Amino acid sequence: MKKITVFCASSPKIRNEYKEEARSLAEKLVSDDYEIVYGGGATGLMGAVADRAIELNGKVTGVIPHFMVEVEWEHKGVSKMIHVADMAERKKLLIKDTSAVIVLPGGTGTIEELFEVLSLKKLGQFHQPIILVNTCGFFDPLIQLMGIMVKENFMRPEHDEMYHVVDKASDVIEALKWIPEWSKDAIKFAAVK
Ligand code: AMP
Repeated sequence: MKKITVFCASSPKIRNEYKEEARSLAEKLVSDDYEIVYGGGATGLMGAVADRAIELNGKVTGVIPHFMVEVEWEHKGVSKMIHVADMAERKKLLIKDTSAVIVLPGGTGTIEELFEVLSLKKLGQFHQPIILVNTCGFFDPLIQLMGIMVKENFMRPEHDEMYHVVDKASDVIEALKWIPEWSKDAIKFAAVK
C-alpha cells in the first residue's frame, strides 16, 4: 500500500470550505488506496482528514510527539499512532517512504513542515511530489513569494518546479499522474551560481 503524507492545520476555528476540502482529500486518498500519514492531531483539518478516512475504513497513521500526547492532542480514533520524542523526529517519520506530500492550508506548523520538505527537495534529499491544495486561494501569497525568490535570484528557476498547486482536493490524484520526477541530481543545481 502506498503511503501519502498530509500536512495541514490544527485550528478548529476555520471556515467550513477548508474542512470540506480536507474531507474530500481523505475520500480521494482512501478510494485510491493510499495509507494516509499525518501529524496525529484530532482537531482542525488534521481531525477532518483523519475522521473522514476512518469513516471510510481507510488506513491512517498518526505521528505525534510525547509532549502533545500529554496535553491530549492525539486523535483517539486512529488505530496506528506512533509516539516520537520530538518535532524533529516527527517530521522525519512523516515523510519516510512516502509517495508524495499533500499540503492543505494551515498555520506556522503546516508552513514549517512544507518548507522543510521544500528545502530537502532543493538539496536532493527528498524527491517525491509536493502538492499544495489552494483552497480559497490560501497559498497565493506563498506562491507569489516563491516567484519573488526566483526573480530576485534567491533560488534558481528550476526550484519553482519543486511544488505543484491544485485548486481542489479532487485534483490531487490526477496531478500525481502528471507531475514529472524530481531530478536525482538536484544537489548539482541546488546552489545559485
Ligand atoms: P498549524 O498549521 O500551526 O496548525 O500546525 C499544524 C502542526 O502543528 C501539526 O503538525 C503539529 O505539529 C502542530 N500542532 C499544533 N497544534 C496542534 C494540536 N492542537 N494538535 C495536534 N498538533 C498540533
